[in-house]
Amino acid sequence: MDKFDLTVLGGGPGGYVAAIRAAQLGMKVALVEKKLPLGGTCLNVGCIPSKVLLESSDLYHKAGNEFSKHGIAVTGASMSIEQLMARKNKVVKELTDGIMILMKKGNIKVINGFGRIKSKGLVEVTGEGGIETVETDKILIAVGSEPVELPFLPFDGDKVVNSTDALSFGKVPSSMIVIGAGAIGLELGSVWSRLGSKVTFVEILPRVAPFADSQASKMLERALIAQGLQFKLETKVVSGEKTAGGVVLAIQDKNGAESKIEAEKVLVAVGRKPATKKQGFEEVGIKLDEKGRIKVGDNFQTALSSVYAIGDCIEGPMLAHKASEEGVACVEKIAGLSAHVNYAAIPNVVYTEPELAQVGISDEEAKAKGIAVKSGKSYFKGNGRAKSLMAEDGFVKVVADAETDKLLGLHIVGPRASEMIHEGALCMEFEGTAEDIGIMCHAHPTLSETLKEAALAVHKKAIHG
Ligand SMILES: Cc1cc2nc3c(=O)[nH]c(=O)nc-3n(C[C@H](O)[C@H](O)[C@H](O)COP(=O)(O)OP(=O)(O)OC[C@H]3O[C@@H](n4cnc5c(N)ncnc54)[C@H](O)[C@@H]3O)c2cc1C
Repeated sequence: MDKFDLTVLGGGPGGYVAAIRAAQLGMKVALVEKKLPLGGTCLNVGCIPSKVLLESSDLYHKAGNEFSKHGIAVTGASMSIEQLMARKNKVVKELTDGIMILMKKGNIKVINGFGRIKSKGLVEVTGEGGIETVETDKILIAVGSEPVELPFLPFDGDKVVNSTDALSFGKVPSSMIVIGAGAIGLELGSVWSRLGSKVTFVEILPRVAPFADSQASKMLERALIAQGLQFKLETKVVSGEKTAGGVVLAIQDKNGAESKIEAEKVLVAVGRKPATKKQGFEEVGIKLDEKGRIKVGDNFQTALSSVYAIGDCIEGPMLAHKASEEGVACVEKIAGLSAHVNYAAIPNVVYTEPELAQVGISDEEAKAKGIAVKSGKSYFKGNGRAKSLMAEDGFVKVVADAETDKLLGLHIVGPRASEMIHEGALCMEFEGTAEDIGIMCHAHPTLSETLKEAALAVHKKAIHG
């Protein structure tokens, strides 16, 4: 029997990235994954397939609503759902095949099966071919997360669906209710709305993308309403009943008034939970917190020595890049290197149109924490590139420490915010200031000039503001 230096449980962006880095550092690595292809939630049923559907549905929407403004006449545009799904599957396959190549390159042994930790140096893998026992020095748990189900409205894969189902509908539903206006709900709601579904969101909190700066979230809500999406905020779903044609939900607004809404499909997008149930972790002494997340110390070490955990199954934002950063930092620490994850500079993006991206804290969060800040804002309306793209909705807000001018947060709602946000993340990594961004020469005409203007606005020096 082979003995490994490190055995990773779970082949998502946390686990497979950690496996590659560990192999680079000279470790003999095994990666256990119960559901091939590798890539986890992110590549198979998350980040990547959702972005493919967003891109295609955006083009379709623009063909019908915007191309004519450019002088491009499009008549009889139609969307083949079959082709849409085929392209999505092709992109996913190319990327997941690519991970398999990386595994071979790193000489990483991929074991297909459900891994269970028997003791600190032993993992038992149950696969199609039977049970395999893996002896290992260290174990890294990267088992990820799964969608949260509403107790009174269980998923049935047809009328009451989760995000995985909503990435693979065979036809456009005539109507859809999305419960939860977070990133996943907003993205998938946008996809099916652009393709012709009547989409209504029910959100218990008073705003969409609740984690975002409140002004950015309001701006996004306005833009999405203009695209035909409907929102019932501060409203909770009380019960649900399946009918011949779909699902009827009883909802209650903030004043307690109850009403009913109906749709062909209901997408439950109320969050994700760590996939730590039925894993047998507690039986071997690994401790979980009240939310079922694996408790780890500074080095990602669990309560069981030589066993580590990262990604969606531990505390922190459930994001692919956070999982990967933790995977790299964890194995580098195991190898005795100094490594860290800067949790203050992890970007968060919603890939709607306009996009919403943020890094760091908002001025509201700063106030709640007692940190004095100054902020500057600039709108895309006055930006030449945004005008040429016909994407003028949105703004950039820069939040800086009032005393030191250190950049503490960047909030963007607007075109290609997902790409622009990294200027803020970089500045924060280097402990730069709003002034640093303001004095840096930005190419013209670019969307990023709006960021420069917002940084200048912190000191009331914006040129076009
Ligand atoms: C629709 C959707 C869109 C998303 N979009 C984005 C986005 O745009 N950007 C972003 O950053 N994040 C996005 N996410 C979140 C992102 O997918 C997750 O944060 C990320 O995948 C977490 O990585 P992970 O490695 O921790 O876990 P996962 O990707 O969940 O991987 C865990 C893996 O472990 C395997 N596993 C579990 N238990 C065992 C076991 N006992 N033995 C063997 N294998 C096991 C699972 O099969 C799975 O493959 C999205 C999620 C969804 C659902």
